[in-house]
Amino acid sequence: MDPFKMMDVAYCRTSVRRDYKVSIEMQKEVIQQHVTHDISKWFIDDGLSGSTINRPDFARLIEWVTSSTQSRTLYVTRYDRLSRNVSNALDFLELCQTHHVEVVSVLEPIPSSLGDKQAAQLLFVQILFSLAEFTRSVTIENINQGLAQKKLEKKVLSAKVPFGYRYQEGKIVPHPSEARVVRQIFSLYTSTSMGYQKIAQQLQKEGKTFRGKPFKKHHVAAILRHSVYTGRIGHNSKNLTPYLSHDVIPIIQPDIFQQAIEKRSRRLPKKRDTREYSLRKKISCPYCDRKLSPKMQSDSIYHHTYHYYACGHEDCVGYRLDASKIEKEVLTSIKTYLTETDNLTTLLDELKKQLSQVAKQKEATVSDLMKQKSCIFDQYEQGTLSKKEMVQQLDILTKQLNDVTSITLTEEQLEERVTQLLHLSDNTIQDVIWSYIDHIQVTPDKQLKEVLLYGIRIQSDVV
Ligand SMILES: [Zn+2]
Repeated sequence: MDPFKMMDVAYCRTSVRRDYKVSIEMQKEVIQQHVTHDISKWFIDDGLSGSTINRPDFARLIEWVTSSTQSRTLYVTRYDRLSRNVSNALDFLELCQTHHVEVVSVLEPIPSSLGDKQAAQLLFVQILFSLAEFTRSVTIENINQGLAQKKLEKKVLSAKVPFGYRYQEGKIVPHPSEARVVRQIFSLYTSTSMGYQKIAQQLQKEGKTFRGKPFKKHHVAAILRHSVYTGRIGHNSKNLTPYLSHDVIPIIQPDIFQQAIEKRSRRLPKKRDTREYSLRKKISCPYCDRKLSPKMQSDSIYHHTYHYYACGHEDCVGYRLDASKIEKEVLTSIKTYLTETDNLTTLLDELKKQLSQVAKQKEATVSDLMKQKSCIFDQYEQGTLSKKEMVQQLDILTKQLNDVTSITLTEEQLEERVTQLLHLSDNTIQDVIWSYIDHIQVTPDKQLKEVLLYGIRIQSDVV
């Protein structure tokens, strides 16, 4: 049968970490218990980490998803089989939604009360991942790292390969005429007294462009900082690491790059803005509709620093918002929305129901396995099993028992987590919320107008 004509498929994965391992056989069994028909193809990655992209059957699954826009169904036991990383899981789900593939996690049905199924699924998955992280007692630092990872990965999805290079068949290769411009920039900066602005003007005069637009000083500044030009993966090219499985051909000699760093450190006594701007590039300017950027201003007399989201585009009248104030307002509006519509309380009820289902299932499986165990002993006593066979079979059973008992989540833990969700008090949850915001509209008189979370619109009357 042509695998791309198949309507219903399933994906199973076991991890490398034995403590959370749920065997492929058990996953298959759980899925088969929940579907009434046959699964036409099983995609299976055995013993492969959910964080790695190099999972052969997952790659085939993506191929299957993108091969058609016919409606089809993909079954998994849990969403975390798709990825250990919430952002990868969400990206994959969005891909599935685009291609009309309904993803069904048989142990985690989406509460029907959550409304629009596609948007609800994305929210639900975020919450499930957040709960899972919690039950694994992963520290907040780890989760923050995960979110930072997400930001990096998002960047990879949308980021362009640095100016001077092209992405070709899995490699980053120099683009001859752009590479010449990069060399010119480094040369002008290190061997003349020209600053970013002067260099940009010089390039403009020569008719050289940055991705089709006139060179601006921030382009020049960014190029001079990018260590990728020396063929090195530095802190500012981390977002490229997935591409950089191969070496990058250098455009700039390391000593020239070092000279640029030294010149910059002499020229720039400015204070760096280390504030985390959670709404970066999410608020639209009410005048020109461009996205507001973080801006810091220091008051040298009172030694006070102000943080804004601002539009300073040359053809805009200009606009700025106090950063902390708008962040607080956005959070409040989301909190109000979530509590007023009872979305999360409904979720809590649903999760509790699921929890007891899982517990029951677990109990049944454990008692079944115990029965099998005593059966093995009986057979050994009766002489139908050799000692070696008995040991082997007991070994398998013990592994299965470990699989089952590793799925744990107490009701108290659940309740506590959801309460945190409801109050959005925890930093981790706030980070989840920030990452969930699609865009924000504000009025010229600095009022919050609308917050759009992946398909869920919160209108101003809630605020
Ligand atoms: Zn503007």
